Amino acid sequence: MSSSGPDLPASGSSQSSSVGRPYGGGGGRISLSPAVQPPPDEPLKEETFQSSESPRAEADLTCDECGAPLRWSPDVGALSCEHCGAHREVAVVQGTILERPLTDKAVASAARGLGRDVRVLSCETCDARVTFEGASTSEACPFCGSPGVLAQDANRQALRPESLIPLEVGAERVKVAFGSWIKGLWFRPNALKKTKRFSAVGVYVPAWTYDADVHSEWSAQSGTYYYVTERYTVQVNGRSQRRTRRVRKVRWRPAWGQRDDSYDDVIVIASKGIDGKLGQSLGPFAAEGLVPYGPEYLAGWRAEEYQMDLADGWANARLRIESSQRKRCAGDVPGDTQRALKVRNEMSDVRWKHVLLPMWSVTYQFKGKPYAVLVHGQSGRIVGRAPYSWIKILLFVLLIAVILAVIAMVSQGR
Ligand SMILES: [Zn+2]
Ligand SMILES: [Zn+2]
Repeated sequence: MSSSGPDLPASGSSQSSSVGRPYGGGGGRISLSPAVQPPPDEPLKEETFQSSESPRAEADLTCDECGAPLRWSPDVGALSCEHCGAHREVAVVQGTILERPLTDKAVASAARGLGRDVRVLSCETCDARVTFEGASTSEACPFCGSPGVLAQDANRQALRPESLIPLEVGAERVKVAFGSWIKGLWFRPNALKKTKRFSAVGVYVPAWTYDADVHSEWSAQSGTYYYVTERYTVQVNGRSQRRTRRVRKVRWRPAWGQRDDSYDDVIVIASKGIDGKLGQSLGPFAAEGLVPYGPEYLAGWRAEEYQMDLADGWANARLRIESSQRKRCAGDVPGDTQRALKVRNEMSDVRWKHVLLPMWSVTYQFKGKPYAVLVHGQSGRIVGRAPYSWIKILLFVLLIAVILAVIAMVSQGR
Protein backbone atom coordinates (compact mmCIF):
# COMPACT_ATOMS: atom_id res chain seq x y z
CA MET A 1 0.00 0.00 0.00
CA SER A 2 1.56 3.20 -0.98
CA SER A 3 -1.06 5.79 -1.54
CA SER A 4 0.91 8.55 0.03
CA GLY A 5 4.08 9.09 1.90
CA PRO A 6 7.15 6.93 1.82
CA ASP A 7 6.04 3.49 2.89
CA LEU A 8 8.16 0.96 4.56
CA PRO A 9 7.99 -2.26 2.62
CA ALA A 10 6.30 -4.97 4.62
CA SER A 11 8.62 -5.46 7.50
CA GLY A 12 9.55 -8.96 8.41
CA SER A 13 8.50 -10.17 11.77
CA SER A 14 11.89 -10.36 13.29
CA GLN A 15 14.54 -7.72 13.17
CA SER A 16 17.84 -9.43 12.97
CA SER A 17 20.40 -7.88 15.14
CA SER A 18 24.05 -8.10 15.77
CA VAL A 19 25.62 -7.18 19.02
CA GLY A 20 28.50 -4.78 18.86
CA ARG A 21 31.11 -4.81 21.55
CA PRO A 22 29.98 -3.30 24.79
CA TYR A 23 30.83 0.29 25.44
CA GLY A 24 34.38 0.93 26.56
CA GLY A 25 35.13 0.61 30.26
CA GLY A 26 35.25 3.38 32.80
CA GLY A 27 32.16 5.47 33.28
CA GLY A 28 31.04 5.14 29.68
CA ARG A 29 28.94 2.06 30.16
CA ILE A 30 25.30 2.19 29.20
CA SER A 31 23.03 -0.32 30.81
CA LEU A 32 20.50 -1.73 28.41
CA SER A 33 17.04 -2.01 29.75
CA PRO A 34 15.72 -5.41 30.76
CA ALA A 35 12.66 -6.73 29.00
CA VAL A 36 9.45 -5.77 30.72
CA GLN A 37 6.58 -8.23 30.81
CA PRO A 38 3.44 -6.98 29.11
CA PRO A 39 0.23 -6.85 31.13
CA PRO A 40 -1.53 -10.22 30.77
CA ASP A 41 -4.73 -8.87 29.23
CA GLU A 42 -2.92 -7.10 26.44
CA PRO A 43 -0.61 -9.58 24.85
CA LEU A 44 2.14 -7.99 22.85
CA LYS A 45 3.23 -9.62 19.64
CA GLU A 46 5.44 -12.57 20.54
CA GLU A 47 8.29 -11.38 18.41
CA THR A 48 8.54 -8.14 20.26
CA PHE A 49 11.18 -6.81 22.54
CA GLN A 50 11.14 -3.68 24.57
CA SER A 51 14.25 -1.72 23.94
CA SER A 52 12.77 1.50 25.14
CA GLU A 53 10.22 0.23 27.55
CA SER A 54 11.95 1.23 30.73
CA PRO A 55 13.60 4.61 30.92
CA ARG A 56 17.13 4.08 29.82
CA ALA A 57 19.91 5.79 31.69
CA GLU A 58 20.80 9.10 30.10
CA ALA A 59 23.44 8.04 27.64
CA ASP A 60 27.01 9.16 28.23
CA LEU A 61 28.05 10.42 24.84
CA THR A 62 31.53 11.67 25.57
CA CYS A 63 34.79 10.23 24.27
CA ASP A 64 36.51 7.66 26.53
CA GLU A 65 39.91 8.92 25.39
CA CYS A 66 39.59 12.67 25.63
CA GLY A 67 36.15 13.51 26.96
CA ALA A 68 35.05 15.47 23.90
CA PRO A 69 31.46 14.95 22.68
CA LEU A 70 30.90 11.97 20.41
CA ARG A 71 28.92 12.13 17.21
CA TRP A 72 27.21 9.38 15.21
CA SER A 73 29.25 8.95 12.06
CA PRO A 74 27.26 7.74 9.02
CA ASP A 75 30.50 6.97 7.19
CA VAL A 76 31.90 4.73 9.92
CA GLY A 77 28.58 3.46 11.28
CA ALA A 78 29.71 4.13 14.84
CA LEU A 79 30.08 6.96 17.33
CA SER A 80 33.15 8.96 16.52
CA CYS A 81 35.15 11.66 18.28
CA GLU A 82 35.89 14.66 16.10
CA HIS A 83 38.58 15.76 18.52
CA CYS A 84 40.83 12.67 18.70
CA GLY A 85 39.29 10.39 16.07
CA ALA A 86 38.39 7.57 18.46
CA HIS A 87 35.43 5.36 17.54
CA ARG A 88 32.89 3.60 19.69
CA GLU A 89 30.55 0.93 18.37
CA VAL A 90 26.87 1.25 19.16
CA ALA A 91 25.55 -2.04 20.51
CA VAL A 92 22.41 -2.99 18.64
CA VAL A 93 19.82 -4.15 21.12
CA GLN A 94 18.91 -7.82 20.71
CA GLY A 95 15.41 -8.62 19.64
CA THR A 96 12.78 -6.93 17.60
CA ILE A 97 10.87 -3.71 17.71
CA LEU A 98 7.74 -3.37 19.75
CA GLU A 99 4.46 -2.65 18.05
CA ARG A 100 1.90 -1.53 20.61
CA PRO A 101 -1.84 -1.91 20.52
CA LEU A 102 -3.71 1.32 19.97
CA THR A 103 -5.28 1.37 23.43
CA ASP A 104 -5.09 4.03 26.11
CA LYS A 105 -3.36 1.63 28.44
CA ALA A 106 -0.62 0.70 25.99
CA VAL A 107 -0.10 4.33 25.04
CA ALA A 108 0.13 5.30 28.71
CA SER A 109 2.82 2.70 29.35
CA ALA A 110 5.00 3.75 26.41
CA ALA A 111 8.33 5.43 27.15
CA ARG A 112 8.60 9.20 26.82
CA GLY A 113 11.27 11.68 25.85
CA LEU A 114 14.41 11.09 23.86
CA GLY A 115 16.51 9.67 26.71
CA ARG A 116 18.89 12.59 26.45
CA ASP A 117 18.96 16.05 27.84
CA VAL A 118 18.16 18.07 24.76
CA ARG A 119 16.63 21.39 23.85
CA VAL A 120 14.62 22.18 20.80
CA LEU A 121 14.43 25.10 18.45
CA SER A 122 10.84 25.94 17.73
CA CYS A 123 10.41 27.59 14.33
CA GLU A 124 7.97 30.48 14.11
CA THR A 125 7.63 30.07 10.34
CA CYS A 126 7.04 26.37 9.76
CA ASP A 127 6.22 25.25 13.33
CA ALA A 128 8.83 22.49 13.32
CA ARG A 129 10.49 21.66 16.65
CA VAL A 130 14.01 20.37 16.13
CA THR A 131 16.61 19.31 18.70
CA PHE A 132 19.91 21.08 18.87
CA GLU A 133 23.07 20.67 20.87
CA GLY A 134 25.32 23.10 22.60
CA ALA A 135 24.45 26.58 23.75
CA SER A 136 24.14 28.17 20.33
CA THR A 137 20.67 29.52 19.70
CA SER A 138 21.67 31.90 16.95
CA GLU A 139 20.68 29.28 14.44
CA ALA A 140 18.25 29.10 11.58
CA CYS A 141 15.49 26.54 11.13
CA PRO A 142 17.04 23.53 9.37
CA PHE A 143 13.89 23.09 7.27
CA CYS A 144 12.83 26.52 6.10
CA GLY A 145 15.97 28.51 6.82
CA SER A 146 14.02 31.00 8.90
CA PRO A 147 16.05 32.76 11.59
CA GLY A 148 12.91 33.14 13.72
CA VAL A 149 13.55 30.27 16.09
CA LEU A 150 12.96 29.98 19.80
CA ALA A 151 14.95 27.74 22.15
CA GLN A 152 12.70 25.61 24.36
CA ASP A 153 12.92 22.51 26.49
CA ALA A 154 12.29 19.31 24.61
CA ASN A 155 8.89 17.81 25.29
CA ARG A 156 9.71 15.12 27.82
CA GLN A 157 6.16 13.80 27.52
CA ALA A 158 6.46 13.12 23.80
CA LEU A 159 6.31 9.41 23.00
CA ARG A 160 9.77 7.98 22.56
CA PRO A 161 10.61 6.51 19.14
CA GLU A 162 10.58 2.71 19.24
CA SER A 163 13.08 2.47 16.49
CA LEU A 164 14.97 4.37 13.89
CA ILE A 165 16.94 3.91 10.73
CA PRO A 166 20.45 5.17 11.44
CA LEU A 167 21.70 7.90 9.14
CA GLU A 168 23.86 6.18 6.53
CA VAL A 169 24.60 9.03 4.16
CA GLY A 170 27.43 11.31 5.25
CA ALA A 171 28.02 15.00 4.54
CA GLU A 172 30.42 14.34 1.68
CA ARG A 173 27.84 12.30 -0.24
CA VAL A 174 25.29 15.06 0.27
CA LYS A 175 27.70 17.61 -1.19
CA VAL A 176 28.37 15.48 -4.27
CA ALA A 177 24.66 14.66 -4.70
CA PHE A 178 23.68 18.32 -4.45
CA GLY A 179 26.31 19.38 -7.00
CA SER A 180 25.24 16.86 -9.63
CA TRP A 181 21.53 17.38 -8.91
CA ILE A 182 21.63 21.12 -9.48
CA LYS A 183 23.74 20.73 -12.63
CA GLY A 184 21.43 18.05 -14.02
CA LEU A 185 18.17 20.04 -13.80
CA TRP A 186 16.47 21.05 -17.06
CA PHE A 187 15.08 24.44 -18.03
CA ARG A 188 16.68 26.30 -15.16
CA PRO A 189 18.53 29.61 -15.11
CA ASN A 190 22.20 29.22 -16.00
CA ALA A 191 23.21 31.03 -12.83
CA LEU A 192 21.44 28.38 -10.76
CA LYS A 193 23.85 25.67 -11.90
CA LYS A 194 26.69 27.61 -10.34
CA THR A 195 25.09 27.48 -6.89
CA LYS A 196 27.72 26.20 -4.52
CA ARG A 197 26.51 27.51 -1.19
CA PHE A 198 23.92 25.51 0.64
CA SER A 199 23.28 24.45 4.18
CA ALA A 200 22.72 20.80 4.94
CA VAL A 201 21.48 19.43 8.22
CA GLY A 202 21.15 15.74 8.99
CA VAL A 203 17.83 15.29 10.71
CA TYR A 204 15.72 12.40 11.94
CA VAL A 205 12.13 12.97 10.89
CA PRO A 206 9.31 11.53 13.01
CA ALA A 207 6.80 9.08 11.58
CA TRP A 208 4.13 6.72 12.85
CA THR A 209 3.65 3.27 11.44
CA TYR A 210 0.42 1.36 11.86
CA ASP A 211 -0.54 -2.28 11.40
CA ALA A 212 -4.16 -3.32 11.24
CA ASP A 213 -6.41 -6.22 10.32
CA VAL A 214 -9.46 -5.22 8.32
CA HIS A 215 -12.68 -7.09 7.75
CA SER A 216 -14.66 -5.52 4.90
CA GLU A 217 -18.25 -6.22 3.91
CA TRP A 218 -19.46 -4.82 0.62
CA SER A 219 -22.58 -4.61 -1.47
CA ALA A 220 -22.97 -3.32 -4.99
CA GLN A 221 -24.89 -3.76 -8.18
CA SER A 222 -23.06 -5.96 -10.61
CA GLY A 223 -23.70 -5.36 -14.29
CA THR A 224 -23.42 -7.88 -17.11
CA TYR A 225 -23.31 -6.72 -20.71
CA TYR A 226 -25.64 -8.13 -23.34
CA TYR A 227 -26.31 -7.03 -26.88
CA VAL A 228 -29.53 -6.49 -28.76
CA THR A 229 -30.06 -5.82 -32.44
CA GLU A 230 -31.99 -2.64 -33.08
CA ARG A 231 -33.60 -1.60 -36.33
CA TYR A 232 -33.53 1.98 -37.41
CA THR A 233 -34.13 4.02 -40.55
CA VAL A 234 -31.92 6.59 -42.24
CA GLN A 235 -32.57 8.94 -45.13
CA VAL A 236 -30.22 8.32 -48.05
CA ASN A 237 -30.66 10.60 -51.06
CA GLY A 238 -34.20 11.37 -50.00
CA ARG A 239 -35.16 7.71 -49.52
CA SER A 240 -35.71 5.83 -46.30
CA GLN A 241 -33.38 2.86 -45.71
CA ARG A 242 -33.81 0.31 -42.93
CA ARG A 243 -30.67 -0.76 -41.11
CA THR A 244 -29.75 -2.74 -38.02
CA ARG A 245 -27.17 -2.16 -35.34
CA ARG A 246 -25.92 -3.98 -32.24
CA VAL A 247 -26.52 -2.09 -29.02
CA ARG A 248 -24.88 -2.87 -25.68
CA LYS A 249 -27.16 -3.11 -22.64
CA VAL A 250 -26.47 -3.86 -18.99
CA ARG A 251 -28.33 -6.32 -16.83
CA TRP A 252 -28.03 -5.29 -13.16
CA ARG A 253 -28.05 -7.77 -10.29
CA PRO A 254 -27.36 -7.21 -6.61
CA ALA A 255 -24.02 -8.57 -5.36
CA TRP A 256 -22.33 -8.70 -1.98
CA GLY A 257 -19.30 -10.20 -0.31
CA GLN A 258 -16.65 -9.85 2.31
CA ARG A 259 -12.91 -10.05 2.61
CA ASP A 260 -10.15 -9.92 5.21
CA ASP A 261 -6.88 -8.12 4.77
CA SER A 262 -4.04 -7.03 6.94
CA TYR A 263 -1.79 -4.05 6.63
CA ASP A 264 1.75 -3.81 7.84
CA ASP A 265 3.69 -0.61 8.50
CA VAL A 266 1.47 1.99 6.90
CA ILE A 267 3.66 5.06 7.36
CA VAL A 268 2.45 8.52 8.27
CA ILE A 269 5.09 11.23 8.39
CA ALA A 270 4.50 13.34 11.50
CA SER A 271 6.79 16.20 10.51
CA LYS A 272 5.90 19.87 10.31
CA GLY A 273 9.24 20.82 8.85
CA ILE A 274 9.56 18.83 5.68
CA ASP A 275 7.80 19.74 2.48
CA GLY A 276 5.14 17.00 2.25
CA LYS A 277 5.39 16.59 -1.52
CA LEU A 278 9.17 16.35 -1.42
CA GLY A 279 8.92 13.83 1.41
CA GLN A 280 6.64 11.66 -0.69
CA SER A 281 8.94 11.72 -3.66
CA LEU A 282 11.92 10.63 -1.54
CA GLY A 283 10.79 7.02 -1.91
CA PRO A 284 10.44 4.22 0.62
CA PHE A 285 12.74 3.37 3.47
CA ALA A 286 14.07 -0.16 3.82
CA ALA A 287 12.61 -1.58 7.01
CA GLU A 288 15.57 -3.96 7.34
CA GLY A 289 17.51 -0.89 8.43
CA LEU A 290 15.34 -0.32 11.50
CA VAL A 291 17.12 -0.71 14.81
CA PRO A 292 15.71 -0.26 18.30
CA TYR A 293 15.97 3.35 19.34
CA GLY A 294 19.13 4.48 21.05
CA PRO A 295 20.07 8.07 21.81
CA GLU A 296 23.56 7.35 20.43
CA TYR A 297 22.30 7.58 16.84
CA LEU A 298 21.12 11.12 17.44
CA ALA A 299 24.48 12.32 18.79
CA GLY A 300 25.59 15.27 16.70
CA TRP A 301 22.41 15.25 14.62
CA ARG A 302 19.00 16.84 14.81
CA ALA A 303 15.73 15.14 15.53
CA GLU A 304 12.35 16.66 14.95
CA GLU A 305 9.65 16.26 17.55
CA TYR A 306 6.43 14.93 16.08
CA GLN A 307 3.76 17.56 15.52
CA MET A 308 1.02 15.19 14.43
CA ASP A 309 -0.02 13.05 17.36
CA LEU A 310 -0.71 9.32 17.46
CA ALA A 311 -4.49 9.71 17.06
CA ASP A 312 -4.27 12.10 14.10
CA GLY A 313 -1.68 9.84 12.53
CA TRP A 314 -4.07 6.90 12.88
CA ALA A 315 -6.92 8.93 11.37
CA ASN A 316 -4.69 9.56 8.38
CA ALA A 317 -3.56 5.93 8.07
CA ARG A 318 -7.15 4.76 8.48
CA LEU A 319 -8.30 6.86 5.51
CA ARG A 320 -5.58 5.35 3.38
CA ILE A 321 -6.47 1.82 4.48
CA GLU A 322 -10.16 2.46 3.81
CA SER A 323 -9.53 3.81 0.34
CA SER A 324 -7.33 0.82 -0.41
CA GLN A 325 -10.05 -1.56 0.86
CA ARG A 326 -12.59 0.15 -1.34
CA LYS A 327 -10.43 -0.57 -4.38
CA ARG A 328 -9.97 -4.18 -3.33
CA CYS A 329 -13.69 -4.67 -2.80
CA ALA A 330 -14.44 -3.06 -6.16
CA GLY A 331 -12.13 -5.67 -7.66
CA ASP A 332 -14.21 -8.42 -6.04
CA VAL A 333 -17.52 -7.33 -7.59
CA PRO A 334 -18.34 -9.83 -10.36
CA GLY A 335 -19.57 -8.91 -13.83
CA ASP A 336 -18.51 -6.48 -16.51
CA THR A 337 -19.32 -3.27 -14.70
CA GLN A 338 -20.61 -2.08 -11.32
CA ARG A 339 -22.35 0.71 -9.50
CA ALA A 340 -23.50 1.73 -5.99
CA LEU A 341 -20.57 0.11 -4.17
CA LYS A 342 -20.90 0.34 -0.40
CA VAL A 343 -18.09 -0.84 1.88
CA ARG A 344 -18.15 -1.26 5.63
CA ASN A 345 -14.75 -1.76 7.28
CA GLU A 346 -14.07 -3.14 10.70
CA MET A 347 -10.52 -2.70 11.95
CA SER A 348 -8.98 -4.84 14.63
CA ASP A 349 -5.61 -5.48 16.21
CA VAL A 350 -4.39 -2.00 15.39
CA ARG A 351 -0.77 -1.55 16.40
CA TRP A 352 1.56 1.36 16.13
CA LYS A 353 5.11 2.36 16.59
CA HIS A 354 6.93 5.66 16.49
CA VAL A 355 9.99 5.66 14.25
CA LEU A 356 12.58 8.19 13.14
CA LEU A 357 13.60 8.34 9.48
CA PRO A 358 16.98 9.77 8.47
CA MET A 359 17.12 12.63 5.99
CA TRP A 360 19.25 15.58 5.11
CA SER A 361 17.41 18.84 4.93
CA VAL A 362 19.24 21.05 2.46
CA THR A 363 18.40 24.68 1.80
CA TYR A 364 19.95 27.01 -0.73
CA GLN A 365 19.22 30.54 -1.81
CA PHE A 366 18.68 31.79 -5.33
CA LYS A 367 18.06 35.49 -5.92
CA GLY A 368 17.34 35.92 -2.24
CA LYS A 369 14.72 33.18 -2.11
CA PRO A 370 15.22 29.95 -0.15
CA TYR A 371 14.58 26.54 -1.79
CA ALA A 372 14.20 23.20 -0.05
CA VAL A 373 15.97 19.99 -0.99
CA LEU A 374 15.81 16.61 0.74
CA VAL A 375 18.30 13.77 0.66
CA HIS A 376 17.22 10.26 1.68
CA GLY A 377 19.43 9.28 4.60
CA GLN A 378 19.54 5.64 3.57
CA SER A 379 19.61 5.59 -0.24
CA GLY A 380 21.10 9.02 -0.92
CA ARG A 381 18.27 9.89 -3.36
CA ILE A 382 17.90 13.64 -3.74
CA VAL A 383 14.73 15.61 -4.52
CA GLY A 384 14.24 19.33 -4.35
CA ARG A 385 12.75 22.53 -5.53
CA ALA A 386 14.38 24.92 -7.96
CA PRO A 387 13.24 27.90 -10.00
CA TYR A 388 12.46 27.48 -13.71
CA SER A 389 13.81 29.56 -16.51
CA TRP A 390 10.65 30.61 -18.36
CA ILE A 391 12.69 31.91 -21.26
CA LYS A 392 14.24 28.48 -21.79
CA ILE A 393 10.85 26.82 -21.63
CA LEU A 394 9.39 29.32 -24.11
CA LEU A 395 12.31 28.79 -26.51
CA PHE A 396 11.85 25.03 -26.25
CA VAL A 397 8.14 25.29 -27.00
CA LEU A 398 8.89 27.51 -30.01
CA LEU A 399 11.50 25.04 -31.24
CA ILE A 400 8.98 22.18 -31.06
CA ALA A 401 6.43 24.34 -32.93
CA VAL A 402 8.97 25.05 -35.67
CA ILE A 403 9.87 21.37 -36.00
CA LEU A 404 6.20 20.41 -36.27
CA ALA A 405 5.61 23.11 -38.87
CA VAL A 406 8.56 21.88 -40.95
CA ILE A 407 7.33 18.27 -40.76
CA ALA A 408 3.87 19.42 -41.86
CA MET A 409 5.30 21.35 -44.81
CA VAL A 410 7.51 18.46 -45.93
CA SER A 411 4.69 15.95 -45.79
CA GLN A 412 2.35 18.28 -47.72
CA GLY A 413 4.96 18.90 -50.36
CA ARG A 414 5.03 15.20 -51.27
ZN1 LIG B 1 38.24 11.87 21.72
ZN1 LIG C 1 11.11 26.48 9.91
